Amino acid sequence: MLKTHILIVEDEADIQQLVSYNLIRAGFNVTCADSGEEAIACLGREKFDCVLLDLMLPGMSGLEVCAAMRNGKADNQTPIIMLTAKGEESDIVAGLDCGADDYITKPFSPKVLIARIKSVLRRFFEDNKHKAERTEKGRIVINSLEIDLGRHEIRLEGNLLQLTMTEFEILALLAEKPGWVFTRQQIIDAVRGYEFLVTPRAIDVQVFGLRKKMGWAYGMIETVRGLGYRFKSDWIREN
Ligand code: CA
Repeated sequence: MLKTHILIVEDEADIQQLVSYNLIRAGFNVTCADSGEEAIACLGREKFDCVLLDLMLPGMSGLEVCAAMRNGKADNQTPIIMLTAKGEESDIVAGLDCGADDYITKPFSPKVLIARIKSVLRRFFEDNKHKAERTEKGRIVINSLEIDLGRHEIRLEGNLLQLTMTEFEILALLAEKPGWVFTRQQIIDAVRGYEFLVTPRAIDVQVFGLRKKMGWAYGMIETVRGLGYRFKSDWIREN
């Protein structure tokens, strides 16, 4: 079996070494880049399973690399985990808006990093596995939640939820990628066109209303403090 190939983009030599040492020891195949420009060159040459991307890089920034990967020259859907300084919530939000999949704050333990990589790879794999099925049938089913994308209907334990178009779009968006964090801006971009929804605050109001309608299942939508919302993939009814 081919080893999982990780690209580490980090300009600080000691962090780069520590991370690559631990990843190699954990059985990963590793390539290192010292700058954003080098990362883009690597991505053009080789295929990776995951990119660990430091945001603070000299020259081309991590955010620029992320944007280039998602919609620019180096078009590439490889999962990206951002490496950020602690407390830089605005950086994390900017990174997620640019298309990064997850983040980890420095300093981090190698164990936590490896667990995070595995979790992102697992989610990415699951997403791809289910994507074809979902598009074909136009349905998303997670436990007792059933979303009919064609009919714009959502049922919870068989009961139809009376949702507005915006509420429907938000829940469908989150449920399509369980476990992934969506920023308010990403939600705004995705549901735009249905109602006049332009502010992050409007998203909070919509989610509040949506949760209320979901009743006992409100916990399926998790607030990620300072960042946005995500659908809890491991949500279990408590009673
Ligand atoms: Ca750095």
